Amino acid sequence: MANTEVNKKTILIADDAEINRLLLKKIFGEEYFIEEAANGLEALQKLREMPEIAVLILDIMMPKLDGFGVLEVMQKDEHLRTIPTVVITANNEEDTQIRALSGGATDVLTKPFSSQIIMHRIKNIMTRREAEKLAEQNRAYKRELRLMYTDEKSGLYNKNAFHRYTARMLEKNHHKKFLLFRWDIDNFKVFNDWFGTEVGDEYLKKIGDFYRKYGKQNTALMTYARYDADHFVCCQEAEGFNPEAITKIIDEYMGQLKNLDFEYTPRVGIYMINDPTLDVALMCDRALLALRSIKDSYGKRFAWFDDSMRESMIEQQEIVNEMEFALKDGQFSAYLQPQYNYDNGRLIGAEALVRWKHPVKGDIMPSKFIPLFERNGFISKLDEYIWEQICILLRKWKDEGIPLVPISVNVSRRDIYNPHLFGNILALLGKYNLDPALLHLEITESAYTQNAEQLVTTVNLLRSHGLKVHMDDFGSGYSSLSMLQDVPVDLLKLDMRFLGNDYKEERSGNILNAVVRMATALQLPVLAEGVETKEQADFLRSIGCLRMQGYFFARPMPTEEFEELLTSVNTTSFLGDSFVESIEGSVNFLSFSFQSALLFNSFVGGAAVAEYDKRNETFVTLRINDQFLTEIGTDRTQYMERGQSVFDYYENENKQIVLDMLNEAIATDKEACCEVLTRVTKKSDEYRWLKLRTRLLVASSNRHILYVVVENITCSKEKTIAYEDMVEKLTTLTNNIPGGIGIFEVADKMQLVYCNDTMAVMFGYTHEEFMQKFANSFIASIHPQDREVVEKSFSCLLNEKKLVENCKYRQICKDGSWRWVNMYGRLMAVDGRIPRICALIMDTNT
Ligand code: C2E
Ligand code: CA
Ligand code: CA
Repeated sequence: MANTEVNKKTILIADDAEINRLLLKKIFGEEYFIEEAANGLEALQKLREMPEIAVLILDIMMPKLDGFGVLEVMQKDEHLRTIPTVVITANNEEDTQIRALSGGATDVLTKPFSSQIIMHRIKNIMTRREAEKLAEQNRAYKRELRLMYTDEKSGLYNKNAFHRYTARMLEKNHHKKFLLFRWDIDNFKVFNDWFGTEVGDEYLKKIGDFYRKYGKQNTALMTYARYDADHFVCCQEAEGFNPEAITKIIDEYMGQLKNLDFEYTPRVGIYMINDPTLDVALMCDRALLALRSIKDSYGKRFAWFDDSMRESMIEQQEIVNEMEFALKDGQFSAYLQPQYNYDNGRLIGAEALVRWKHPVKGDIMPSKFIPLFERNGFISKLDEYIWEQICILLRKWKDEGIPLVPISVNVSRRDIYNPHLFGNILALLGKYNLDPALLHLEITESAYTQNAEQLVTTVNLLRSHGLKVHMDDFGSGYSSLSMLQDVPVDLLKLDMRFLGNDYKEERSGNILNAVVRMATALQLPVLAEGVETKEQADFLRSIGCLRMQGYFFARPMPTEEFEELLTSVNTTSFLGDSFVESIEGSVNFLSFSFQSALLFNSFVGGAAVAEYDKRNETFVTLRINDQFLTEIGTDRTQYMERGQSVFDYYENENKQIVLDMLNEAIATDKEACCEVLTRVTKKSDEYRWLKLRTRLLVASSNRHILYVVVENITCSKEKTIAYEDMVEKLTTLTNNIPGGIGIFEVADKMQLVYCNDTMAVMFGYTHEEFMQKFANSFIASIHPQDREVVEKSFSCLLNEKKLVENCKYRQICKDGSWRWVNMYGRLMAVDGRIPRICALIMDTNT
């Protein structure tokens, strides 16, 4: 026989009669391997242990477990079920045959049988089985293939399939003209974030439906696919294609889906296929270029790829061709742009920005090559190169003893996915033996919209090793606000340029203000970049954003220039003389435009606009002017650090005083004021007395915005307190002296301006009675015969003949009796006023 040993199949013969087994063995033995089983259980055991068994020949009548039993067990087993089984019966009974077949047998043979027939039967079964197996494999393969070429979410072709089938279609129909158009769902990632991936998936599925419908309704030849996450492409015959119509169709369809509150304007980029042999991927790129060219334009809904785009593509191709060499050749270098604290003028850092010094083309700006490098991945190499340049620089400065500031480097969104990112950075820091805190890493917000999870993981890892991570281009995307809670960064970079020219408008002013406030609440420092004018800087400062970077301060500069800046950092500061600008006109304090900021700042006196939230009992300053800081005894940096919550500086009863004032101002809509003891910083023991005056500006149900004027009254308040304190002490003292004390003003008559309690009590009066009766005519209380003595005594003192004078006289008591007393008088300081005499009056007996 032709069968080689390798192809030889195995047959299991299950029969209790050895003679039968021998017989069958004789028939099959040459062409097949034979296994034997003497009963049902043994048969099952062998089936399980020997996967190579291709066919089972099964006797029905067997001990332990008969043939039916074996079939039953096999049917229940997923694997055994597939083994073809030929049942052998001794009789010709139809029942048995039917039972066997319905029990899962593949075939039934009755004894006695011819060896020829049984041989053929088995062979057929085997062939059929092989064919089935092949068919199954084929089906699986096709399934795989379909999966490989289908986008699961939309059910459309995926990128690979599109390339393949489009190329095939173009080749087959080379006499026809085709075009390729491409469109995308704006910010699909954000869409997913907002509505959840399930809704997003649903959306994709609907777009898939749309395309299938579009394909069916159209007689033109076409291929279509979901090309990228949110990009769809379609290649179709050019004849009859109408770009307006297609945008309209997409609009209408998307409009039907738009049960969600998601503003969406599809735009279409179209490439007319001139050369059908061009790589389809390149065609898709060209359609993308066309699409990108109108991404930000308001009115345009579609664009054709044209030659200028092509030129830029050629340019890009040149860049790609040259980049590797340029890097080796040292054509890339880092420029540094200083960062300042605008409040105190201090240099606080710099950002490294790459420049390409091309030997022929001159300086090439990053915008020309960074996006390209991000697409082709070269950015990772370039970034690492720049990082190393910065490390070298920091090392050099350190060695030369030059005062250092941290340098921020850009980390492309592409780098975030680089599994070696972290190791590479650590290795660099190790190589140059640098403190990780010196190298700040700027990651861009758009990395978050791409893959939030990965970003969070990476950031955590970096920070756990002491690296500082900055969130770049904050405000450019949509995820911003929620993201702050998820991504644990050390600083936010807010790009003024994203606000366009209308930062002066209320809206952007408020956005800025809200961001800064929110960041402050999260204790996240903010650095504003792209600051171009003094107005912007002043405005930013007035809302508490002090760190800045931008052309107003300095452009990115070669490292040598920055080094000079570093070494002269103590003498130069970008701050010129301070300025005061007076601007006339009425102010709406709530419009946070820069004009009102200026006016606010140049006001006399400390002022703040603050928000009081009744429900949460919070009172937070929204804006403060410089004088405000002076009055409360701090500077902006400190103030920002310590937080803007006013109540944090008050202990209980003082907080209540302020609360009362606020509630009064709100209730009366009039000015309310209070004097309150305030801590200078949250934890210090230094206190200031502040006089607060406030008036309501705007109210909503629970929140109120108030204008607050603050004045440091510590000095006068302390004097008053000291004075009151002294008076109290003296009173205690004088009232406890065993004698009367009186102070007299002596002009044309003797006026008693003060006496202690003892004085009154000595003569049986209360203090009040005594003063009432004798204050204006003390002489009346003296015995008529003694008045002269007393007057003489006084005039002696006044004429400064004597410093101390004493005399003895009688004074009237309340009961009408006279009491002999001794008076010791002394002249008090005169200093131009009415002279005063202080007199101690004591009983003559004592
Ligand atoms: P970026 O990270 O937002 O950097 C700030 C950009 O704003 C810089 O542009 C800087 O020169 C510019 N700029 C600074 N102050 C002002 C200003 O007052 N007004 C205006 N209009 N622009 C200002 P540059 O150097 O052209 O870089 C552009 C972008 O290229 C950077 O934006 C950054 O995303 C990327 N980039 C630059 N260098 C690198 C790098 O080494 N690696 C990576 N991955 N990206 C880099
Ligand atoms: Ca940056
Ligand atoms: Ca930026």
